[in-house]
Parts: sequence; structure tokens; C-alpha cells
Amino acid sequence: MTSTESTRALDFIRTIIAEDLKVDKNDGRVVTRFPPEPNGYLHIGHAKSICLNFGIAAEHDGGRCHLRFDDTNPTKEEVEYVESIQEDVRWLGFDWGPHLYYASDYFGKLHDYAVQLIRKGKAYVCDLSPEEIREYRGTLTEPGRDSPYRNRSVEENLDLFQRMRAGEFADGSRVLRARIDMASPNLNMRDPVMYRILKVSHHRTGDKWCIYPMYDFAHCVSDAQEGITHSICTLEFEDHRPLYDWFLDQLDVPCHPRQIEFARLNLTHTLMSKRKLLKLVEEGHVRGWDDPRMPTLSGLRRRGYTPEAIRSLCERIGVAKRESVVDIALLEHCIREDLNKRAPRVMGVLRPLRVVIDNFPEDRVEEMEAVNNPEDPGMGTRKVPFSRVLYIEQEDFREDPPKNYYRLAPGREVRLRYAYFITCVSVVKDQGTGEVFELHCSYDPATRGGDAPDGRKVKATLHWVSAAHSLEAEARIYDDLFTKPNPGDLEEGEDFTAYLNPNSLVHLTSCRIEPSLAGAVPGSRYQFERQGYFCVDPDTPKSGKLLFNRTATLRDTWAKIEKSQKERQAEAG
Ligand code: ATP
Ligand code: MG
Repeated sequence: MTSTESTRALDFIRTIIAEDLKVDKNDGRVVTRFPPEPNGYLHIGHAKSICLNFGIAAEHDGGRCHLRFDDTNPTKEEVEYVESIQEDVRWLGFDWGPHLYYASDYFGKLHDYAVQLIRKGKAYVCDLSPEEIREYRGTLTEPGRDSPYRNRSVEENLDLFQRMRAGEFADGSRVLRARIDMASPNLNMRDPVMYRILKVSHHRTGDKWCIYPMYDFAHCVSDAQEGITHSICTLEFEDHRPLYDWFLDQLDVPCHPRQIEFARLNLTHTLMSKRKLLKLVEEGHVRGWDDPRMPTLSGLRRRGYTPEAIRSLCERIGVAKRESVVDIALLEHCIREDLNKRAPRVMGVLRPLRVVIDNFPEDRVEEMEAVNNPEDPGMGTRKVPFSRVLYIEQEDFREDPPKNYYRLAPGREVRLRYAYFITCVSVVKDQGTGEVFELHCSYDPATRGGDAPDGRKVKATLHWVSAAHSLEAEARIYDDLFTKPNPGDLEEGEDFTAYLNPNSLVHLTSCRIEPSLAGAVPGSRYQFERQGYFCVDPDTPKSGKLLFNRTATLRDTWAKIEKSQKERQAEAG
């Protein structure tokens, strides 16, 4: 155990597990599972559950965590999702070893358990329509009413269930229900549906089944089949726990796992629901599940996020039972912290402005020595070519500079990073538009490396590239996907897509990057000096041009939030 682990208090789930181990429950085993439904791509909320389940398993000798696809709803599930989920869990840094399972592996067993319940008089076939079932269920304040089919004989139930399975009845015409208590204060216990008829092909079992088990029945039985000791899920399942326990108490199952609920991860300015994310994809609001604006793991990966940064977020937010919304600035803080340590620094100009150094010889090229990462001297240095025609950032020049603007302006001297001091001598404008088109500058040969021997100071240092040597590139600059801090919190009749940020993507097509990035491979990450962290997009090889996604700006809004929180706390005493 490292010192941070030994001094950090255990969260409430780890405390429960430690106590179970102390009394030698489950013979000292710790077996968890991550049970996604393959109906979409994983999002960062799932990362919290993955880190928790795989993390706990790794903390115990012989502990293990299963990856189980909860594939009980054939109408919404696809192989594409099964594959992406495995890729994402691996990418996050976790390994289920041989323990890959599917709820559909247990369809046979689940059927037999259902028959067991029928034989015990604890389940019955009900002919009410879905609307009638809802109507009979009652409300939070009124008890439900018994279905007229509730007292069918065991023989009749066995016969009808067998015929449901054989495909004799239409979809929706009958269901199998648990026979519990229509007056229970917990609505989940009012004879919940266990099986429904769905004449739909399943991605793994094909047309073998036309009845499919419901989540509540399938989940607890799957957990028990796999010898799960702690079945960790999110708070919305708290009210389902009595049902989870009821099924396992009635059935002759190998073990009875303990269900523990925790609060989901919510992040500001985004959404964590596969259903809503699917809508964004299907309606074309984003380019796909892996659009770098999406909170999906594949989107974050394409954006340039590292698994380390995501795991670090999950560690910082911890695990609790209280619902909360985490500021997305904290996620950005985590990626900055990670990339600051390891991303090589380079110079890239996003919106180029041509600069001609009039007193620099036409065909001369000088190699300037640049530091790859000031945080890590071991990353060394590289040479950056300097020549007579350069590009700087448009926003680094103002013809009429406001107060406190220290960058380049007519007559003003600034430093070019790793190169020389330059002074703006004249401005060339487009005759038609009046737009600044080119600057003419002079350089001081005595300032090579960035300092003046006479000790004169400049107030700004600009990044630049050599026009002839730089590479063409495109950059996609991202902002929050939603303008509303909590886009899930809507008035009646409102649609969450109304709050999509129209400026969530700005596409810059004429960027210029220093030549050391030639051949940069997709997924590699850099800090463009003064601009932010960028990651090479996977479409780069087929486009023939370097395509970058901006991962994050350099501005750390989280640090500001934290500072003001601390100040407020200090004021409060
Ligand atoms: P969604 O609403 O996005 O479809 P889900 O809960 O239906 O999410 P599942 O595929 O059933 O998605 O989730 C697999 C596991 O991940 C479950 O144990 C679930 O509790 C957990 N999970 C899902 N969303 C979050 C979240 N935002 N924070 C923490 N855990 C989550
Ligand atoms: Mg779900």
C-alpha cells in the first residue's frame, strides 16, 4: 500500500467490503462486475462505475471484476456497442481477464428459474395489456389491485408460459409476473413483470427466444450465477433492492450478492444518458458517438484525453450516496495536469498573419533551439527553422493597441520565442477590405536566443513559424456542448437540444505548424505554446493534412474556482 492509500479514508463502499471481509463473509472473496447494456457507447459516468468496480477488485488479493453485457433488450442492442464498450474499458486501463459474460448466456437458466417460481406459486402469466397493468399498479399513494389472472393454477401457468416461449402468442398479449404484493408501498414489488413476448432476433441468441427476461429478474440471477459478492450500482436502483433480494431469496441460486448503491456522476454543460446521446448522433447534432464534444469515452479519447486524466477525475470525486453535479472545469483541470507533465511543446499558429523581416537575408535559414518541455528537461530540445518570412497569430497584432495590450503594434518591439526581438515597421492592408494582410518588421541580430545584450526589455513573447518550412494544418476548437449548466434540468415541453451550444465547434482550416510535427501519428498530443493542448485526429492519414482537435485551453478555470472556494471558506471562518 502506498502512503496516500493508507492515509486516505475508505469510501462507504470500500468500508462495507472491508467489514464483510473482517467477518469472513463470502469466504474472503471480492467479486464485482461492470454490467453495461450494449445500447450505446460508454460515457464518462460509466468510467466512474468502471474505476470503482475494477478498482475495488484490484485492491484485494484474488479479487476480480467481470465485464457483463446486460443484453436483455434485443430491440435496442447492437454488436457495434458490444465492441466499443470492450475497447473503452481496456483503454481506461482495466482487464476482465477471462471473465467476459453476457446476460443472454443465462437465458436458459433464467427460464428454468422462472419455472421454479411458477411451481412455487410465486409467478403467474397475466393477460392484462400493458396499459391495464399500469392502471392496476396503483400509485405512490394508492395500493394496486390484483390482476384477475393472479390466481391461476400452477398447471395453467406452466402451460401458458411454455406456450409463450413456443411463440403461440402475440407480442404484448401476455407477460409472466412475480406474485409478490399489490399493496406494497414499494411499486417495484407490485407483481413486477419478469418476462415479455418479443418476436425479435437477438444479436447473440438469434431467433432461439421470443420471450425475454426483464432487467430486475435477469440482473440478480446473473450476479448470483457468477458468484458476485458485491453488486454495485447507481442510486436509481435503491428502490429495486427489495426485489433483487426477493428473487434471490425465493430461488435456489449459488449465492446471494449484496447490492450497494452510489450516486451517479453528473457533469455540468453535458449529459450522461445513452438515450439522449444517441439522439444527438441520430439527429446529426454531432458527427458521431466519438465526436470530441461528446462526453463518451471514445469522444474524450478523440479529443485527446488520457485514461490517466479520467481515472484521476474519478479518484478526486470519490464515491458517495448524495447526488451532485461536478463542474466540467474539474475534468479539464485533470487533463491539463496530466498533459502539462508529458505533452511536448511545439509552435503552431492557428490564424496566421504573414510577417516579413526586411533586414533578414532572403535565403538564410537559422535553426533555433527550442525546449521540448520545461516541466521535464529529460524530453530534450529540438531545432526550429527561422527565416525571413514568418507567420504569427493574427490576434498578436493590433494596429491600434488598447491599453494593457503589450503584443505587436506599429513601432513596437516584441520577442519571438527562442529567436529574436522584432519591431513592426509597416503594415500592408488589403485594398478592398482594409484587412491587415502582412507586416513588415526588422529584427535585432544581437538578440538571438531572446535577450538583448543592452538589457532592454520587451513585454510580450510571441510564438511563430517559418512560412516556407511550416506545415499546413487544420484545427477544431471545441467549447461546451450545451450552454445550460444542467441541460438535463428542463421545463415541461422543453427539449434538451434547444440548449446545444451553437459555438461548440469552430473549424480553422489554414493553421501552420512547425515542421517537427511532420508525420505526427493520430492520437499524439502536444501543447501548442500559448494556445492549448491539441491531439492529432485519426482522420489525418486519409486527409493528407494534419488535423488537430483542441483538447483543452491552457487557462485553468478550475484553479480559479478552487481559489475562490478557499477564500470563501477562509472568510466564513
Ligand atoms: P444510461 O442512462 O446512460 O443509459 P445506464 O445506467 O442505463 O446509463 P448501463 O449500461 O446500464 O447504463 O450502465 C452500466 C453501469 O454503469 C451501471 O451499473 C450503472 O449504474 C453505471 N452508470 C451509468 N451511468 C453512470 C453515471 N453517470 N455515474 C456512475 N455510474 C453510472
Ligand atoms: Mg440503462
